[in-house]
Amino acid sequence: MDVGKVAGRQFPYQCLCGPVSLTIRRHNKIKRGLQQYSCRRCQTVLTAI
Ligand SMILES: [Zn+2]
Repeated sequence: MDVGKVAGRQFPYQCLCGPVSLTIRRHNKIKRGLQQYSCRRCQTVLTAI
């Protein structure tokens, strides 16, 4: 069983600071257009790499 691996899966995004890893929960919300996430430092909206 690889349940642990799936639950901890990270998706690569980026902002002006560099690469950022988002959890699948956040990734799905972005993908559906429900929410956007901004970097705390540069305030840039995170985009998928
Ligand atoms: Zn940033």
